[in-house]
Amino acid sequence: MLSYRHAFHAGNHADVLKHYVLASLIDYLNQKDKPYWYIDTHAGAGCYQLDAGYAAKNAEYTGGIARLWDRKDLPAALASYVEQVKAMNADGAMRLYPGSPLVAQPRLRAEDKLRLFELHPTDFPLLEENLASAGRQAKLVKGDGFAGLKSLLPPAPRRALTLIDPPYEEKKDYQRVVDTLADGLTRFATGVYMVWYPLLQRSEPRLMIEQLKQLPVKGWLHASLTVHKPRSDGFGMHGSGLFILNPPWLLHEELQTTLPYLRDALALDAGASYQLEQQAS
Ligand code: SAM
Repeated sequence: MLSYRHAFHAGNHADVLKHYVLASLIDYLNQKDKPYWYIDTHAGAGCYQLDAGYAAKNAEYTGGIARLWDRKDLPAALASYVEQVKAMNADGAMRLYPGSPLVAQPRLRAEDKLRLFELHPTDFPLLEENLASAGRQAKLVKGDGFAGLKSLLPPAPRRALTLIDPPYEEKKDYQRVVDTLADGLTRFATGVYMVWYPLLQRSEPRLMIEQLKQLPVKGWLHASLTVHKPRSDGFGMHGSGLFILNPPWLLHEELQTTLPYLRDALALDAGASYQLEQQAS
């Protein structure tokens, strides 16, 4: 089943949280003069047009990146991500939004590599087009990212950041995330891994997080952002979360500033909140 198209959601509150933290993680990795791989198991199309097509339909970006666009008081780490999006929109109008591969790629150094997986027959060629300028720095695979990750670990430079960002269209995605990470840690225990997940009124996301906390890893960080009260009919996504294995130690301190900022900036009602917890290594 491949009905999910990320373009409908491009630039929304969940993308803001995920892409800002992704940009930050890469900046932390860049502090060390040693190459690494950026692995994206569910890469999407790479770049999205906000003012036309799917993204314009529900205009979810108006509750996300648009709310940060003109802010003059952004904390430094958020400002860096917003500046990157603005740099893609040279005339100042909000037209293009980067997917995770294009959040990562401009921050990578010449010696760092991208390994991207995407299964969708329409989004894969778009990803190829949007990453063309990366040339040999990026290797794109039209295939299953869960299985593909196995084949890459451990990465040649023995340093990597992996984003696991499935659509969760199918319930089994939650268990596949846990199984993939359990296997990944046996192959490469010191990698940084980030999982994105939706906040829903269903048990699967909560159970997945409980299982992720049991993985044999030195440290983890869990951050989530709720933008509105859960709906009374029990449906819909009221926020999103990130679970990071082997996080850089300064990230927790950074999120103590940026999460309350995002809660206030992206709140749709008084139910907006955030959660931040970690097990330090
Ligand atoms: N990471 C992207 C970003 O932040 O810009 C968004 C990814 S979107 C949430 C999930 C993507 O995974 C969709 O483009 C979907 O087509 C793709 N997909 C679904 N199942 C997959 C699988 N098993 N392996 C690789 N890609 C898959």
